[in-house]
Amino acid sequence: MRTKITLACTECQQRNYNMTKDKKTHPDRMETKKYCRFCKKHTMHKETK
Ligand SMILES: [Zn+2]
Repeated sequence: MRTKITLACTECQQRNYNMTKDKKTHPDRMETKKYCRFCKKHTMHKETK
């Protein structure tokens, strides 16, 4: 079962990405390094509700 999640930049808190994840493979909150256009660099993005 796939769940919709939002990824927010950990530095500026902007919600930059929407995606789906598989709860079986990622039961916990995901953290991914992605480009933030507000910080203009790659930052860690955390899953939010
Ligand atoms: Zn940012």
